[in-house]
Amino acid sequence: MDGPSGSGKSSVSRGVARALGLRYLDTGAMYRAMTWWMLQQGVDVADAAAVAARSGEPVIVSGTDPDGPAIRVDGADVAAPIREAQVTGAVSAVAAVPEVRVRLVALQREIIGAGGIVVEGRDIGTVVWPQAAVKIYLTASAEARALRRSAELSGTTAEAQQAAMARRDTLDSTRKTDPLSMADGAVELDTTPLTLEEVIDAVLSVVAE
Ligand code: C5P
Repeated sequence: MDGPSGSGKSSVSRGVARALGLRYLDTGAMYRAMTWWMLQQGVDVADAAAVAARSGEPVIVSGTDPDGPAIRVDGADVAAPIREAQVTGAVSAVAAVPEVRVRLVALQREIIGAGGIVVEGRDIGTVVWPQAAVKIYLTASAEARALRRSAELSGTTAEAQQAAMARRDTLDSTRKTDPLSMADGAVELDTTPLTLEEVIDAVLSVVAE
């Protein structure tokens, strides 16, 4: 399940995993965990060489339960801090560093290889697991995506969210290594006019085909 931020990937992926009794992996959380660790260490995230040099150090462990996705860095539960604005603002720069991607993609492939899983991200169908049985590309209008995000976060307006998300999406779609793009054979679903349940049903119909 790939798509830009706010397209509904997390809620949809978790719902689909639950409905099908599969595991679930949030690859964005892994990039956020790497970013959180870099910030904790005082690494300048704008310095790609510095990020690359330290990218092998943190031990990142992802849970795969759709009802309580867990993420740990060096044993610490970071599920909450990785959602903070400082991490969100820095993650695209860290995720653009090739050494970071090589390391996290290898971890993701290990988890996926154990079988039966719904995986959400930006490059899952294109790079991480092109052999996936079903590939979905979720989209939504910029307004709908910003509204969804601001409903989840307090203290921010839809306009401010829209600007921050547009910046992140531009960085994610234009980076040199594995930019966000629709995979060959992916089914594109525009979630703008749909409720969460309707999107989950639409994905389940694609799976059943
Ligand atoms: O999905 P989420 O918004 O939490 O992802 C955070 C960031 O991680 C994205 O903006 C992107 O920079 C990066 N990411 C990525 N590849 C993935 C998943 C996320 O580059 N497969």
